[in-house]
Amino acid sequence: MDTRTIVVIMAISCLIVSTALFVTHVGRFRRDGMRLWTAGGAIQFFGASLFATRGVFPDFFSIVLANTLLSTGFWLLYAAVQEFQGKLRRWTPLIATAVVCFFLILTALATPVQRVVFSGSVFCLQLGAIALILFRQAPTHEWRSRWLTGSAFAVAALLVFGRVLEVLVDPAKQVSLLNVSPLQTVSLLAGFVVIIMSSFGFLLMTRERADRENERLATLDSLTEIFNRRTFLELAKKEIARHRRTRSPLALLMVDFDHFKRVNDTYGHLTGDAVLKSFTATTLTCLRENDLFGRYGGEEFTILLPETDTEGAAIFADRLRARVAEVCVTVGAASISCTVSIGITGLNLADEADLDAILRVADEALIAAKAAGRNRVVRRPLNRAAVAEPTKVSAPA
Ligand code: GH3
Ligand code: MG
Ligand code: MG
Repeated sequence: MDTRTIVVIMAISCLIVSTALFVTHVGRFRRDGMRLWTAGGAIQFFGASLFATRGVFPDFFSIVLANTLLSTGFWLLYAAVQEFQGKLRRWTPLIATAVVCFFLILTALATPVQRVVFSGSVFCLQLGAIALILFRQAPTHEWRSRWLTGSAFAVAALLVFGRVLEVLVDPAKQVSLLNVSPLQTVSLLAGFVVIIMSSFGFLLMTRERADRENERLATLDSLTEIFNRRTFLELAKKEIARHRRTRSPLALLMVDFDHFKRVNDTYGHLTGDAVLKSFTATTLTCLRENDLFGRYGGEEFTILLPETDTEGAAIFADRLRARVAEVCVTVGAASISCTVSIGITGLNLADEADLDAILRVADEALIAAKAAGRNRVVRRPLNRAAVAEPTKVSAPA
C-alpha cells in the first residue's frame, strides 16, 4: 500500500471530522471539550498534511513541524477530555511549554532514528494518558462511548509503542515514506480508524451527557432538584394503577408553607428560595426510597407514600411538620424558621379513585389545616360518604 496515500487519507479524515464538528457545533459550543477537540483535529490535519510531504518539503517542515503539530493536536484532545470531565484548569501555558520543548528537542536531534524514537515515545505517552483519563473516570456515566474512545487511544498508543520498539531494535527500519515496514503500514491504517473511532466516541460522550441533562431538566424542578409537577403526576398515576392491581394502600400529602409571602417580603426572594431548598433537603432525609416527592408549584409540595395507609402517613406527616419547624435556615445575618401545613388523604384497600380526586381531597385537607391555625396536619378520608371517619387534626403540642 502506498504510505503517502494513507497519510493523505488520515489528513483528510482529520479535516472532515473537525469540519463536521465545527459546522454542527459553531455558535453553541458548550464547556464540554468539543471546541478543544475540534481544534485538535484541525491542527492534526495540518500536521498530517505536512507529514505527507516527506521528501518533497525540507525535513524541518515534514518532520519537525509535522510532528510538533501532531503533538499539539494530541494535547488539545487531552485538554478536551479534561474539560469534558470538568477538570480543566489553566491549560494554555502547560500545553505551550510542552509543545515548545518538543519542538526544541526534535530540532536538536541529529538522526531520523532519534527523532522517530523521541516523537514516538511522546505520542505514546500522550495517547496513553488520554486513554487513562477516559478509563479512570467514575464508571457511572457515558461508559460505553467513553470506553470506545478510550480503546481507540489505547490501541493507538500500543501501535506507536510497537513502532518505537521496532526502530530501536532495528534502526534500519527508520521512518521513510518510501520504504516502510508492515508494522508502519498497519499503524498508519489503524491511525485512520482511530481518528474516526475516537471522534465518534467523543461526540457520543457529549451527546449522551446532553441527553441526560435534557432529561434532568425535563423531569426535575430547577430550584429544588426534586420531581417537577409533571413528573410527579406521571409517577403518581403509575402508583395508583399499581394500587388497583395489588390493593396495597398509598397516601398522598400536600404540603404548603405557612405565611411564605412574609418570608419573601421580609428577607427577599433569594432567601425564600434558600428556605425551599432547605425544606427539600430536610424532607429527603425523612423519605424512603420508593416515596415520591415533587414540587407541585410555588411553595407547595406533594409527597406520595406507597405501601402506607393514612394512619402511617399522618404519623410521618406530623414528624415532618415538627422537623421543619425545628430547622433554622441561616442566610447572611438572618436566621429563619418556617412552618408548614399538611393535608393528607389516601387509598386504602377497597378505595377506587383517580389522581385528580386524590389531589382534590388532599388539597381540601390542606385548606382545613390552614383554617385550623396552620403548622398542623389534617387527614381526610377519600370517600367521606362511605367512610364515617371525621377529619383528623394533629397540631403542635
Ligand atoms: P399561607 O399560610 O396561607 O399559605 O400563606 P402564604 O403567604 O404562604 O400564601 P401563599 O401560599 O398563597 O403564597 C405563596 C407565596 O410563595 C407567594 C410567592 O411569592 C411565594 N413563592 C412561590 N414560589 C416561590 C419561589 O420559587 N421562591 C420564592 N422565594 N417564593 C416563592
Ligand atoms: Mg403558603
Ligand atoms: Mg401556596
